[in-house]
Amino acid sequence: MHQLLEDSFQSIAHLLFPHCCVGCNAVLDHRKEILCYTCNSLLPCTYFESTAGNTLEKSFYGRIPIASATAAFYFSRESVLHQLLVSLKYKQHKEVGWFLGRLLGYQLAKSERFQEIELLIPLPLHPEKLKIRGYNQAALIAEGIQSVWPNKWVVDAVIRTGFSESQTSSNRINRWQKMQGVFQLSNQQAIHEKKLLLIDDVATTGATLEACGSALMQGNPTSLSLATVAYTL
Ligand SMILES: [Zn+2]
Repeated sequence: MHQLLEDSFQSIAHLLFPHCCVGCNAVLDHRKEILCYTCNSLLPCTYFESTAGNTLEKSFYGRIPIASATAAFYFSRESVLHQLLVSLKYKQHKEVGWFLGRLLGYQLAKSERFQEIELLIPLPLHPEKLKIRGYNQAALIAEGIQSVWPNKWVVDAVIRTGFSESQTSSNRINRWQKMQGVFQLSNQQAIHEKKLLLIDDVATTGATLEACGSALMQGNPTSLSLATVAYTL
């Protein structure tokens, strides 16, 4: 009887407040869904998870020793992925973070290149920004990955002590200089001789990932790899 009441309530709520696809607004059947089948199938996979020497990995050559790097999907302004990331970062839509984390997690779990990873490290937000947003989107993505990839653990190992401004207008040297000292290792013991995977939402210039990765390397991990949801060309 209790279940019947609950189902009826859900049906009425669904009629009054339909749950819609973030991409195209089509009404979805289940509250846990984020995208309809069509929008889901339009997400442009990079296949970086199975491609050694992919363009993201190459962009770190000579900068920081990265074992493997991947980004799940190509990003463009017109894409469904852009709408998802806007929902996640600016509309308090936390479920999108877990959803994108699961999609990235399925790819990682299938890839031989990432099998030895032990710890998932979300790239931290500055505490002030965390206070405003209420959550760190990279941490939600890491939780989503963990939920579909057995025996990997999410660990906070770095803190962010400085802000980095919009980086699009500055050149690579300037961006690198601005990021110096922005991250500090906070949990050396946890990452010592471990195989790490640093997680973030988007890889653009790589300056933020590089700076955070450099802080992690001070903790003497066995290896450092990177995974993001989106990759911008
Ligand atoms: Zn849709």
